[in-house]
Amino acid sequence: MSLEARQLHPFFAGELTGVDLRALRTEQERAEIRALMDRYAVLVVREQQFSDEEQAAFARGLDGELVTKVGRSVIAPAARLKEPGLTDISNLDENNAILERDDRRRMYSLGNRLWHSDSSFQQPPARYSMLSAKEVPTSGGESEYADMRAAYDALPAALREQIADLRAFHSIIYSRSTIGFTEFSDAERAQFPGAEQPLVRVHPGSGRKSVYIASHASHIVGWPVPDGRLLLRELMTLATLPQFVYRHTWRVGDFVIWDNRCTMHRGLPFDETTQRRDLRRVTTIDA
Ligand code: MN
Repeated sequence: MSLEARQLHPFFAGELTGVDLRALRTEQERAEIRALMDRYAVLVVREQQFSDEEQAAFARGLDGELVTKVGRSVIAPAARLKEPGLTDISNLDENNAILERDDRRRMYSLGNRLWHSDSSFQQPPARYSMLSAKEVPTSGGESEYADMRAAYDALPAALREQIADLRAFHSIIYSRSTIGFTEFSDAERAQFPGAEQPLVRVHPGSGRKSVYIASHASHIVGWPVPDGRLLLRELMTLATLPQFVYRHTWRVGDFVIWDNRCTMHRGLPFDETTQRRDLRRVTTIDA
């Protein structure tokens, strides 16, 4: 089999058609998917029928070890999903009902509206994330992806030089605090101590350089906090200019894989009081 994708955006994002990912069995086929990921960074595959177990198995087969603990301290009490490899990206509670507006789990999840790269606040961070759409709103709730390799290429040369060897400190406690979510327990603070990450990474599969930032990025290591925060804010603005962004409108059965090493993403708002959005994520570790 030779898999080919149709490009969805001038810089990145491809759509793969005519394939049931559950039926991919050989290492050759998995290598083709990884090669497409190196090229497109975001891969859309519609009409996939993954069970939770099959989704976790696919991710393990494609890319090895799974992240299972991200956000668990906050989300776990729901335990809506039984498969340990899956993270619940929904507005639903353990009884499959829409979360109350002031539910702590919903408040925490609102952080996904900020541009980010999954698990950049952990060491090792995430490599691939894969979202499977089970229920989608009739309007809103899209996901946006930003191409951090194209963004890097477009930076002024002086800025590329300035950031070449810098490191940023990433913390989910910080990013949540920027939207006013500060109610973390001592145990949660201990669970999420944050992590230092390079500001520029070389993407191994393409050899291209990428900005590596996220709303989790709090400051530049070794710099006064305000200086670093201003630089990060500038980079976030430049990296998410409209020309670098692909917007995905979800349909039930959509499966989207993205590379967290060279993209950022965010969820867009929808009417959470009447609309159900049930997306399920599996994430692999960049180790
Ligand atoms: Mn995310």
